[in-house]
Amino acid sequence: MRITDSRYDRDRQRLTVACRLIVHEARTQTIRQATGLSGDRIRKLYRDYFFTERPVRRRRGKSPRQMSFFRRSPAHELEAAALGALLRQCGFLGRPQVLYRPGLEEVAHFCDVYETFRSLCPATAITFEHAWHLLHVLARLDEFVLARCPDCQATWIRDTLDLLPDNCAACRADPPD
Ligand SMILES: [Zn+2]
Repeated sequence: MRITDSRYDRDRQRLTVACRLIVHEARTQTIRQATGLSGDRIRKLYRDYFFTERPVRRRRGKSPRQMSFFRRSPAHELEAAALGALLRQCGFLGRPQVLYRPGLEEVAHFCDVYETFRSLCPATAITFEHAWHLLHVLARLDEFVLARCPDCQATWIRDTLDLLPDNCAACRADPPD
């Protein structure tokens, strides 16, 4: 009985997290990876709860995979750095294992981080999927890393393979004296 109860609780938790991801317009593939639910169950969830009652946009196609998105404008760069700083503060960076088998609690925690970020930057162009991609890139501590700008000491995202730019978007827009 206890096992059944705990399975039921786990399944309910899975569905709760999946609903949060649907509200954030995550793609089916991302929801599958993050919750372990099958594509069929996600589509059913979407149909049963979100299609008529509470319409949300369903994004199709591949998830964003380009870091160039975060370099589109100084605002994109600064917001990506703010999100990166939140992810680091909340313990998401430097643990590559979080990327391959994220626990439900970690995914729920990531939703908290993204929602906090949206409350700080309500007009941001960084979607949930972009944020999820940024997490995967930064957690690898490889090509892109959070670093201190050498000119103003603010947190920025440095491309470790690129020599330029060598300081943050704010310093480039308004060079320090
Ligand atoms: Zn700077």
